[in-house]
Amino acid sequence: MNEKINLDPGAAQVLDGLHRAGYKAYLVGGCVRDSLAGRAPHDWDICTSARPEQTMAVFGEKHCIPTGLQHGTVTVRQGGGFYEVTTFRVEGGYADGRHPDRVEFVADVEADLARRDFTINAMAYNEAEGLIDPFGGREDLLVRRVVRAVGEPARRFEEDGLRILRLYRFGAKEELALDPATAAAALQERERLGCVSAERIWQELYKLLSARRPGRWMPPEILRQILPELDGGAYPACIRAVDALPPDPLVRLAALLAPAGPAGAVSAAARLRCSRAEAGEVCTLAAESSLALTGDPPRLQARRLLARLAPDTVRRLLALRRAQTGDEGFAAVAAAANQLQAEHACCRVSQLAVNGRDLLALGVRPGPAVGRLLSAALEQVVEEKLPNDRAALLGWLQTRQTTCEQEKL
Ligand code: ATP
Ligand code: MG
Repeated sequence: MNEKINLDPGAAQVLDGLHRAGYKAYLVGGCVRDSLAGRAPHDWDICTSARPEQTMAVFGEKHCIPTGLQHGTVTVRQGGGFYEVTTFRVEGGYADGRHPDRVEFVADVEADLARRDFTINAMAYNEAEGLIDPFGGREDLLVRRVVRAVGEPARRFEEDGLRILRLYRFGAKEELALDPATAAAALQERERLGCVSAERIWQELYKLLSARRPGRWMPPEILRQILPELDGGAYPACIRAVDALPPDPLVRLAALLAPAGPAGAVSAAARLRCSRAEAGEVCTLAAESSLALTGDPPRLQARRLLARLAPDTVRRLLALRRAQTGDEGFAAVAAAANQLQAEHACCRVSQLAVNGRDLLALGVRPGPAVGRLLSAALEQVVEEKLPNDRAALLGWLQTRQTTCEQEKL
């Protein structure tokens, strides 16, 4: 079972440097899992017997960032890439169910692997020794196709409640079944998620919602622990919408929260401490999620949406409505929106062929009237009553302004 992993050249140099200085060193965690599964890893984490200061001595301070010295982590810059190098360690005591009370450096890799959450994440590799896999992670990943806790599942979830969410995240990402004892413990210990910081929850939920079709790995009991605003009755339909949507966490979160209404979406986004931009997007989508098609041509419907929402929001909203209703009419509007964008068709005041200066030149007094006239001109263009053409717009604005002045008299 000694398959060969195609090492990233920078990671190979880091392993080499540590080995030549007499330390043990391995690739570990996600990069080993992804390589065995035949995917290209997005980063290459390394674990070593070297203490952080020893790692820094091997590569020189200039090439090292002391990322988390108290946890034993140094980021090493090598061949243009960055590699997290962490000293073998065990964690002792999780009095609060979220932070280890202390970390202790240890001499061998097996002890370090034993503190990791799931067998598929608890493998190490280097070229000389091949795969170090004391818990059967390779077989779980490739043969049994399960996510299974390292050690006794309930205890591992008591130590760190976030692992409960990580179980479903890795299941969904790798499309693996859950080991029955591990899944039973996760459900039983689900209240431990309440001790976990919002930032960590959102990070994992984001990754869960980025999986191809995560619905199977989103049991309502677990989701309700982190999103109490979920509507139990609507949940099966929400999960179907999540699976029908592209793997975009923001629109999928909006699909879950839509039945909770705008207030529910606002409170969920605040609790998860989403960024301002993320919260704004999710809340807008949830608030707009009753959007209905009209009988107008798709291009006109798309243009009206682009006039009041950002292009990404329009794209997400139409995908959401299509997933919720199965109505292909929304896809036609989405295609029209793409087409309008490709044409740089005018949907915003800033895209009009006239601007405020033109209005002042027509004799409009500076002030709110300028904005009102530009909005009115945009409406003409969006409704396709006027082309976005300078001469045509100036002519229309002139008549309009005269009418306004006459009305005032
Ligand atoms: P990804 O590709 O999503 O980054 P990953 O396996 O690298 O997957 P990380 O969350 O980056 O996942 O964690 C790196 C490694 O650290 C994991 O593979 C696992 O071995 C270990 N690990 C991370 N978080 C925990 C945790 N809460 N409990 C135990 N081990 C953990
Ligand atoms: Mg990682």
